[in-house]
Amino acid sequence: LSDKLEATFKKLAGQATINEINIGLAMRDIKRALLGADVNYKVAKKLIDDIREKSLGEQVIKSVSPAQMIVKIVYDELTELMGGEQKPLNLSPKKLPAVIMVAGLQGSGKTTFCAKLALRLKKSGKQPMLVAADVYRPAAIDQLKALGQQVDVPVFAIEEQDAMKAALQGLEAARSAAKDVVIVDTAGRLQIDQVMMAEAESLKHALKPDELLFVVDSMMGQEAVNTAKAFNDRLDFDGVVLTKLDGDSRGGAALSIRQVVEKPIKFISIGEKVDDLDLFYPDRMAQRILGMGDIVSFVEKAQENLDLEKSLEMQKKLMKNEFDLNDFFDQLQQLKKMGSIQGLIEMVPGLNKMVPKQDLENLDFKPIEAMINSMTKQEKMTPDIINGSRRQRIARGSGTKVQEVNLLLKQFGEMKKMMRSVSKLSQSGRKITSQN
Ligand code: GDP
Ligand code: MG
Repeated sequence: LSDKLEATFKKLAGQATINEINIGLAMRDIKRALLGADVNYKVAKKLIDDIREKSLGEQVIKSVSPAQMIVKIVYDELTELMGGEQKPLNLSPKKLPAVIMVAGLQGSGKTTFCAKLALRLKKSGKQPMLVAADVYRPAAIDQLKALGQQVDVPVFAIEEQDAMKAALQGLEAARSAAKDVVIVDTAGRLQIDQVMMAEAESLKHALKPDELLFVVDSMMGQEAVNTAKAFNDRLDFDGVVLTKLDGDSRGGAALSIRQVVEKPIKFISIGEKVDDLDLFYPDRMAQRILGMGDIVSFVEKAQENLDLEKSLEMQKKLMKNEFDLNDFFDQLQQLKKMGSIQGLIEMVPGLNKMVPKQDLENLDFKPIEAMINSMTKQEKMTPDIINGSRRQRIARGSGTKVQEVNLLLKQFGEMKKMMRSVSKLSQSGRKITSQN
């Protein structure tokens, strides 16, 4: 996907504005690329429609090119479509042991995942037990036992070929060994199969798992979506584990599965080793699918900086000469949230020359807050009246030195200049319209 998009954006790069024609072109390429990354057709179509709509009404800020802006819009949309936030495991603290059951086709990575999850839970202070309810192949039990040994978590297994018995006895064994979570590994088949489904269903009813996780191989492409749907229709699972993302699958399955079954993806498996397991983060997956993380964070910062509403408000204040120390303090805190002030300043053309580097770096906010709190209402609104004796009083009141008060007032002056140039920038912000 990344290569194709890159080519598309190269086409757009030389153009100053986005219009119906080049948006249409970009969207056609993005759609083709999404389909190539195994994103379900309906999902890709919805994404494209949403993006087209959003892009046409979008404000484009001057420090960002329209092409960069589209990347950000695509990225936001992908993140949202994949659930927005990371969804953690939901284990009942009351009912001990908590039960996690896995289901999925044979070879999807269930057994490996069980061991990885056991290791992860153990590291977080839990006492897990693994239960082998894949009773039909001795090799499957041996595999779980070997993995259990590797992660140093006990494995419960029985000799008989009775999955229900294995699961229930395993649960009992965990209870009497005072374990707080059991992970039940189940049997899969190579294809959707009614016997397998019926067994998983009855295990679900008997175990009443806190989390029934569906494990699916991301390399399966479109088939992953059909499988997810079949399992969800029958089992109504709680979450998805996407495996083999270390291969060259492009992650499109994450998007499609989420759309089709509307269940959160909770984990991704990224290798054969026992610690190759990560939480699923929609934003990171969106970056993986797009492969343009740099642009995304650049636009994000620029957007925060030029937050239109805020700067319009500031602009008004500046014009009326109302930008005061209260606003100054708000602005400082906003900048602090964004991280490196210097990095931000460098991104905005013109600002880098205006703001002295050292002054804004290493700002400590506590004394600033104290100083501003020690000022009268009048002083905050019209800092010009803060003369020598007022400075001394403010320093005493806030437990700071007069030099610090001087510095604060100097920084306020710089900020005022900076805000003025930011508002100039946003005034010249362009709108994407169908006319231009
Ligand atoms: P199960 O049949 O669903 O229990 O699947 P297994 O856990 O036995 O895994 C099947 C194969 O896939 C094994 O060879 C695993 O080592 C491999 N495997 C599992 N997860 C991953 C992964 O995230 N990446 C890679 N590369 N291989 C994996
Ligand atoms: Mg297995």
